[in-house]
Amino acid sequence: MDIPLWRKIQKESFSKISEISDFLQLDESNNKKLLEKPSFRFLLPRRIAEKIPKNNLSCPLSKQFLPLKEELIKKQGFISDPTCDAIFQKEEKILHKYQGRLLLITTGACAMNCRFCFRQNFSYPQTKPIFERELAYIKQESSLHEVILSGGDPLSLSDETLQKILQALDAIDHIQIIRFHTRFPIGIPERITPSFLEILSRLKKQIIFVIHANHANEFDQDIFQALKSLRLHNVQMLMHTVLLKGINDDLTSLKNLFLTVSANGIFPYYLHQLDQVEGTTHFYTPIKKGLFLIDELRKILPGYATPRYVQEIPNAPYKTIL
Ligand SMILES: *Cc1c(COP(=O)(O)O)cnc(C)c1O
Ligand code: SF4
Repeated sequence: MDIPLWRKIQKESFSKISEISDFLQLDESNNKKLLEKPSFRFLLPRRIAEKIPKNNLSCPLSKQFLPLKEELIKKQGFISDPTCDAIFQKEEKILHKYQGRLLLITTGACAMNCRFCFRQNFSYPQTKPIFERELAYIKQESSLHEVILSGGDPLSLSDETLQKILQALDAIDHIQIIRFHTRFPIGIPERITPSFLEILSRLKKQIIFVIHANHANEFDQDIFQALKSLRLHNVQMLMHTVLLKGINDDLTSLKNLFLTVSANGIFPYYLHQLDQVEGTTHFYTPIKKGLFLIDELRKILPGYATPRYVQEIPNAPYKTIL
């Protein structure tokens, strides 16, 4: 069988620190800041690497994806599993925490590895992408109205696997909405293939995409075009963002991001307070600053372009609005 183009592009991603360092022409002092053997693997698609200015570790993209020695800083309150997700694992690949909706952990793989990822220590099932037990759980749990395909990134899976999951979910009466949580199109928009769009167009249920993006620099016309093709297939397009120090914790960056995506048919859903995972202390922004920024944004943006500022508090029945 032919390997899809997006798989080939995926294989060309940077995964070695020495290679990205050469590509970005980092000088000695910048090289010294990089963490050569990070515990959370380095992975960066070429499309994003090409948007990073040469020899620049302070741009919003290098900060999100290049492992720095700051990841070694240990601090009280920064732990392995801050959201306590492990206790909500109802089947091997299910996190059922909130009423009416649950996460299907479809894969551990992503297009890129974000250094602040809250699930970087999650012990992903190493088994094949087979979801029999999970689908049985969803079928018998009639209180559910929505299934969220999460991971990792569900778009790491092949169209064949996604088709099987989607058709099975589409056939369950009480499931009304199928949601994707994905960042894949930001790194590899080629993933949105005609065959994937066709799979979606055959579903009866409402599809929602929540894409994850943190800075307007992450986007380009190819990405907007890919997301538009999803919208033209009746997909509702939302975005969630993590508040990140030195990346988007200022009014200009957030305003640009929320306006740019809104103008492209994507609406800001959540602005997340950082989940305090070990190794992410350098991304921490105080809640007080987040509250100030959200209040300022409300003055200059329409309501539909202003996300809810939320925090994941373990055991809370929903994401807590700050
Ligand atoms: C964030 C999250 C959801 C989705 O929450 P919404 O408020 O519906 O977006 C569902 N399950 C888990 C475990 C989550 O962390
Ligand atoms: S895309 Fe999402 S799940 Fe994957 S590394 Fe980034 S934040 Fe984590």
